Amino acid sequence: MSQKVFFLSMLSINLLTTRKRIAIASFSLLFSGLLSAWLIGYLSTNAHTAILPNAPKQISAQEKLNNDSIPWQVLKLMKAYPNFVVGYSNGSIMFQDSTQMRFNDNRIKSSQELLDNADLEDMFHDPYLADSSVKIPDNDAGRMRNEAFFMKIYGQTKEEIRSNLTEIVWCPSLVNQRIMVNKNNGVSKQFIALSKELDQHPEFKKYISNIGGTFNYRKINGTNRLSMHSFGITIDINIAESNYWQWDCGCTNENGVNGFKNRIPIALVLIFEKHGFIWGGRWKHYDTMHFEYRPELFP
Ligand SMILES: [Zn+2]
Repeated sequence: MSQKVFFLSMLSINLLTTRKRIAIASFSLLFSGLLSAWLIGYLSTNAHTAILPNAPKQISAQEKLNNDSIPWQVLKLMKAYPNFVVGYSNGSIMFQDSTQMRFNDNRIKSSQELLDNADLEDMFHDPYLADSSVKIPDNDAGRMRNEAFFMKIYGQTKEEIRSNLTEIVWCPSLVNQRIMVNKNNGVSKQFIALSKELDQHPEFKKYISNIGGTFNYRKINGTNRLSMHSFGITIDINIAESNYWQWDCGCTNENGVNGFKNRIPIALVLIFEKHGFIWGGRWKHYDTMHFEYRPELFP
Protein backbone atom coordinates (compact mmCIF):
# COMPACT_ATOMS: atom_id res chain seq x y z
CA MET A 1 0.00 0.00 0.00
CA SER A 2 2.58 2.48 1.07
CA GLN A 3 4.63 1.53 -1.99
CA LYS A 4 1.63 2.29 -4.28
CA VAL A 5 0.99 5.65 -2.61
CA PHE A 6 4.65 6.55 -2.98
CA PHE A 7 4.61 5.60 -6.68
CA LEU A 8 1.44 7.65 -7.35
CA SER A 9 2.71 10.68 -5.48
CA MET A 10 6.04 10.47 -7.32
CA LEU A 11 4.12 10.29 -10.61
CA SER A 12 1.96 13.31 -9.73
CA ILE A 13 5.07 15.30 -8.68
CA ASN A 14 6.66 14.35 -11.95
CA LEU A 15 3.52 15.33 -13.83
CA LEU A 16 3.23 18.59 -11.97
CA THR A 17 6.88 19.38 -12.58
CA THR A 18 6.55 18.67 -16.28
CA ARG A 19 3.47 20.91 -16.52
CA LYS A 20 5.28 23.55 -14.59
CA ARG A 21 8.23 23.24 -16.92
CA ILE A 22 5.94 23.49 -19.95
CA ALA A 23 4.13 26.42 -18.41
CA ILE A 24 7.38 28.20 -17.57
CA ALA A 25 8.82 27.46 -21.00
CA SER A 26 5.62 28.67 -22.75
CA PHE A 27 5.51 31.78 -20.59
CA SER A 28 9.17 32.48 -21.28
CA LEU A 29 8.66 32.05 -25.01
CA LEU A 30 5.59 34.28 -25.02
CA PHE A 31 7.30 36.91 -22.87
CA SER A 32 10.49 37.00 -24.91
CA GLY A 33 8.42 37.12 -28.10
CA LEU A 34 6.40 40.05 -26.82
CA LEU A 35 9.56 41.75 -25.55
CA SER A 36 11.31 41.33 -28.92
CA ALA A 37 8.25 42.60 -30.78
CA TRP A 38 8.04 45.64 -28.49
CA LEU A 39 11.79 46.24 -28.74
CA ILE A 40 11.79 46.07 -32.54
CA GLY A 41 8.79 48.40 -32.65
CA TYR A 42 10.38 50.82 -30.18
CA LEU A 43 13.71 50.90 -31.95
CA SER A 44 12.25 51.34 -35.41
CA THR A 45 9.85 54.07 -34.22
CA ASN A 46 12.65 55.92 -32.48
CA ALA A 47 15.03 55.31 -35.32
CA HIS A 48 12.53 56.97 -37.63
CA THR A 49 11.94 59.95 -35.41
CA ALA A 50 15.68 60.31 -34.78
CA ILE A 51 16.90 59.97 -38.35
CA LEU A 52 14.15 61.07 -40.70
CA PRO A 53 14.09 64.83 -40.01
CA ASN A 54 17.81 65.12 -40.72
CA ALA A 55 18.03 62.45 -43.36
CA PRO A 56 19.64 63.78 -46.53
CA LYS A 57 17.53 63.76 -49.63
CA GLN A 58 18.08 60.87 -51.95
CA ILE A 59 20.96 61.69 -54.28
CA SER A 60 22.07 59.63 -57.18
CA ALA A 61 25.42 57.87 -57.20
CA GLN A 62 26.58 60.22 -59.96
CA GLU A 63 25.55 63.30 -57.98
CA LYS A 64 27.39 61.97 -54.96
CA LEU A 65 30.50 61.35 -57.02
CA ASN A 66 30.33 64.88 -58.47
CA ASN A 67 29.81 66.56 -55.07
CA ASP A 68 32.54 64.55 -53.39
CA SER A 69 35.04 65.41 -56.07
CA ILE A 70 34.48 69.18 -56.11
CA PRO A 71 37.40 70.78 -54.25
CA TRP A 72 36.37 73.13 -51.42
CA GLN A 73 38.09 76.02 -53.18
CA VAL A 74 35.86 75.52 -56.23
CA LEU A 75 32.78 75.49 -54.00
CA LYS A 76 33.97 78.84 -52.61
CA LEU A 77 34.31 80.24 -56.13
CA MET A 78 30.85 78.95 -57.07
CA LYS A 79 29.39 80.68 -54.01
CA ALA A 80 31.32 83.94 -54.50
CA TYR A 81 30.79 84.22 -58.30
CA PRO A 82 27.41 82.47 -58.70
CA ASN A 83 26.54 83.91 -62.11
CA PHE A 84 29.92 83.00 -63.55
CA VAL A 85 31.29 79.80 -61.96
CA VAL A 86 28.59 77.16 -62.30
CA GLY A 87 30.31 73.79 -61.97
CA TYR A 88 33.36 71.57 -61.97
CA SER A 89 34.32 68.74 -64.25
CA ASN A 90 37.51 66.77 -64.88
CA GLY A 91 39.74 69.15 -62.93
CA SER A 92 38.33 72.34 -64.48
CA ILE A 93 35.84 74.93 -63.30
CA MET A 94 32.91 75.49 -65.65
CA PHE A 95 31.77 78.99 -66.51
CA GLN A 96 28.22 80.02 -67.36
CA ASP A 97 29.26 80.54 -71.00
CA SER A 98 30.39 76.86 -71.20
CA THR A 99 34.10 77.71 -71.20
CA GLN A 100 36.40 75.99 -68.71
CA MET A 101 39.48 76.86 -66.70
CA ARG A 102 41.99 74.44 -65.17
CA PHE A 103 41.75 74.41 -61.37
CA ASN A 104 45.18 73.07 -60.39
CA ASP A 105 48.40 72.87 -62.43
CA ASN A 106 49.84 70.53 -59.72
CA ARG A 107 53.15 72.40 -59.71
CA ILE A 108 55.16 73.03 -56.53
CA LYS A 109 55.93 76.77 -56.51
CA SER A 110 58.22 79.13 -54.66
CA SER A 111 56.55 82.11 -52.97
CA GLN A 112 57.58 84.30 -55.92
CA GLU A 113 56.10 81.81 -58.41
CA LEU A 114 52.89 81.73 -56.40
CA LEU A 115 52.60 85.48 -56.93
CA ASP A 116 53.70 85.48 -60.57
CA ASN A 117 51.92 82.37 -61.77
CA ALA A 118 49.03 81.47 -59.48
CA ASP A 119 46.47 78.93 -60.62
CA LEU A 120 42.97 78.92 -59.11
CA GLU A 121 44.05 76.56 -56.34
CA ASP A 122 47.00 78.81 -55.42
CA MET A 123 44.61 81.71 -54.77
CA PHE A 124 43.70 79.87 -51.56
CA HIS A 125 47.31 78.99 -50.66
CA ASP A 126 47.26 81.04 -47.43
CA PRO A 127 44.02 81.43 -45.47
CA TYR A 128 42.81 85.01 -45.17
CA LEU A 129 42.19 85.61 -41.46
CA ALA A 130 39.79 88.48 -40.81
CA ASP A 131 40.45 88.63 -37.08
CA SER A 132 39.82 91.64 -34.87
CA SER A 133 43.45 92.54 -34.23
CA VAL A 134 46.30 93.83 -36.39
CA LYS A 135 49.15 91.33 -36.47
CA ILE A 136 52.48 91.46 -38.28
CA PRO A 137 51.56 89.52 -41.43
CA ASP A 138 53.62 86.44 -42.26
CA ASN A 139 51.98 85.64 -45.60
CA ASP A 140 50.24 87.23 -48.59
CA ALA A 141 46.75 85.69 -48.23
CA GLY A 142 44.67 86.94 -51.14
CA ARG A 143 47.63 88.41 -53.02
CA MET A 144 48.04 85.27 -55.15
CA ARG A 145 45.64 85.79 -58.01
CA ASN A 146 44.91 84.08 -61.26
CA GLU A 147 44.68 87.01 -63.66
CA ALA A 148 42.73 85.09 -66.32
CA PHE A 149 40.03 84.32 -63.77
CA PHE A 150 39.44 87.98 -62.90
CA MET A 151 39.52 88.94 -66.59
CA LYS A 152 36.77 86.37 -67.14
CA ILE A 153 34.63 87.92 -64.40
CA TYR A 154 35.29 91.64 -64.88
CA GLY A 155 36.42 92.07 -68.49
CA GLN A 156 39.13 90.77 -70.84
CA THR A 157 40.51 94.11 -72.02
CA LYS A 158 40.81 97.64 -70.74
CA GLU A 159 37.91 98.64 -73.00
CA GLU A 160 35.70 95.77 -71.93
CA ILE A 161 36.37 96.47 -68.24
CA ARG A 162 35.65 100.15 -68.82
CA SER A 163 32.29 99.26 -70.35
CA ASN A 164 31.44 97.29 -67.17
CA LEU A 165 32.11 100.25 -64.86
CA THR A 166 29.57 102.46 -63.18
CA GLU A 167 29.94 105.67 -61.19
CA ILE A 168 28.91 105.79 -57.54
CA VAL A 169 29.11 108.54 -54.94
CA TRP A 170 31.46 107.48 -52.17
CA CYS A 171 30.15 108.32 -48.68
CA PRO A 172 27.76 111.12 -49.77
CA SER A 173 27.58 112.77 -46.31
CA LEU A 174 31.19 112.52 -45.14
CA VAL A 175 33.18 112.57 -48.39
CA ASN A 176 30.97 112.94 -51.48
CA GLN A 177 33.55 111.76 -54.02
CA ARG A 178 32.63 110.14 -57.35
CA ILE A 179 34.35 106.82 -58.01
CA MET A 180 34.19 104.25 -60.84
CA VAL A 181 33.61 100.60 -59.90
CA ASN A 182 32.73 97.38 -61.74
CA LYS A 183 29.06 96.35 -62.03
CA ASN A 184 29.80 92.66 -62.61
CA ASN A 185 29.27 90.09 -59.87
CA GLY A 186 27.38 92.71 -57.83
CA VAL A 187 30.58 94.64 -56.99
CA SER A 188 29.03 98.12 -57.37
CA LYS A 189 26.19 97.06 -55.05
CA GLN A 190 28.75 95.97 -52.46
CA PHE A 191 30.54 99.31 -52.81
CA ILE A 192 27.25 101.18 -52.27
CA ALA A 193 26.42 99.12 -49.15
CA LEU A 194 29.95 99.64 -47.81
CA SER A 195 29.84 103.38 -48.53
CA LYS A 196 26.46 103.69 -46.81
CA GLU A 197 27.79 102.05 -43.66
CA LEU A 198 31.03 104.05 -43.60
CA ASP A 199 29.01 107.25 -43.98
CA GLN A 200 27.70 106.60 -40.44
CA HIS A 201 31.24 106.77 -38.99
CA PRO A 202 32.55 110.35 -38.84
CA GLU A 203 35.42 109.09 -36.65
CA PHE A 204 36.89 107.45 -39.78
CA LYS A 205 36.47 110.48 -42.04
CA LYS A 206 40.18 111.29 -42.35
CA TYR A 207 40.92 107.74 -43.57
CA ILE A 208 38.14 107.47 -46.12
CA SER A 209 38.48 111.00 -47.57
CA ASN A 210 40.70 111.84 -50.57
CA ILE A 211 40.32 108.38 -52.05
CA GLY A 212 43.64 107.32 -53.56
CA GLY A 213 41.98 105.49 -56.45
CA THR A 214 39.65 102.78 -57.65
CA PHE A 215 39.77 101.92 -61.36
CA ASN A 216 43.22 102.32 -62.90
CA TYR A 217 44.28 99.88 -65.63
CA ARG A 218 47.95 99.23 -64.95
CA LYS A 219 50.60 96.72 -63.98
CA ILE A 220 51.76 96.39 -60.36
CA ASN A 221 54.93 98.49 -60.10
CA GLY A 222 58.00 96.27 -60.57
CA THR A 223 56.02 93.27 -61.84
CA ASN A 224 54.40 91.94 -64.99
CA ARG A 225 51.08 91.36 -63.21
CA LEU A 226 47.94 93.45 -63.63
CA SER A 227 47.05 95.46 -60.55
CA MET A 228 43.60 94.59 -59.19
CA HIS A 229 42.83 98.29 -59.70
CA SER A 230 42.63 97.33 -63.38
CA PHE A 231 39.30 95.59 -62.70
CA GLY A 232 37.47 98.30 -60.73
CA ILE A 233 37.01 96.04 -57.69
CA THR A 234 39.45 97.78 -55.33
CA ILE A 235 39.75 101.05 -53.47
CA ASP A 236 42.79 102.81 -52.03
CA ILE A 237 41.73 105.00 -49.12
CA ASN A 238 43.63 108.11 -48.02
CA ILE A 239 47.28 107.69 -49.02
CA ALA A 240 48.31 110.29 -46.43
CA GLU A 241 47.19 107.91 -43.66
CA SER A 242 48.64 104.76 -45.22
CA ASN A 243 51.78 102.66 -45.45
CA TYR A 244 53.07 100.65 -48.38
CA TRP A 245 55.97 98.19 -48.31
CA GLN A 246 57.54 99.66 -51.48
CA TRP A 247 57.69 103.16 -49.94
CA ASP A 248 59.20 101.86 -46.72
CA CYS A 249 61.87 99.67 -48.32
CA GLY A 250 62.45 102.16 -51.15
CA CYS A 251 62.41 99.19 -53.52
CA THR A 252 60.13 97.18 -55.79
CA ASN A 253 61.86 93.82 -55.30
CA GLU A 254 59.30 91.55 -53.63
CA ASN A 255 62.10 89.77 -51.77
CA GLY A 256 63.11 93.08 -50.22
CA VAL A 257 60.10 93.49 -47.92
CA ASN A 258 61.04 93.88 -44.29
CA GLY A 259 59.06 95.10 -41.29
CA PHE A 260 55.47 96.30 -41.04
CA LYS A 261 53.84 99.67 -40.49
CA ASN A 262 50.17 100.55 -40.14
CA ARG A 263 48.04 103.50 -39.04
CA ILE A 264 44.60 102.26 -40.19
CA PRO A 265 42.27 101.39 -37.26
CA ILE A 266 41.14 97.77 -37.18
CA ALA A 267 37.50 98.82 -36.56
CA LEU A 268 37.53 100.47 -40.00
CA VAL A 269 39.10 97.38 -41.59
CA LEU A 270 36.36 95.16 -40.09
CA ILE A 271 33.65 97.23 -41.85
CA PHE A 272 35.31 96.66 -45.24
CA GLU A 273 35.74 92.95 -44.49
CA LYS A 274 32.09 92.64 -43.49
CA HIS A 275 31.25 93.60 -47.10
CA GLY A 276 33.66 91.11 -48.68
CA PHE A 277 36.73 93.34 -49.11
CA ILE A 278 40.13 92.01 -48.07
CA TRP A 279 42.70 94.43 -46.61
CA GLY A 280 46.26 94.89 -47.86
CA GLY A 281 47.33 95.48 -44.25
CA ARG A 282 47.07 91.73 -43.69
CA TRP A 283 49.80 91.05 -46.26
CA LYS A 284 53.50 90.56 -45.71
CA HIS A 285 53.78 92.91 -48.72
CA TYR A 286 51.63 95.35 -46.79
CA ASP A 287 49.54 97.99 -48.52
CA THR A 288 47.37 99.48 -45.78
CA MET A 289 45.35 101.82 -48.04
CA HIS A 290 44.24 98.91 -50.25
CA PHE A 291 40.88 97.09 -50.06
CA GLU A 292 39.82 94.57 -52.70
CA TYR A 293 36.52 92.74 -53.26
CA ARG A 294 37.36 89.03 -52.83
CA PRO A 295 34.28 87.28 -51.46
CA GLU A 296 35.78 83.82 -52.06
CA LEU A 297 38.27 84.37 -49.21
CA PHE A 298 35.64 84.76 -46.51
CA PRO A 299 33.78 81.90 -44.75
ZN1 LIG B 1 45.52 99.54 -54.05
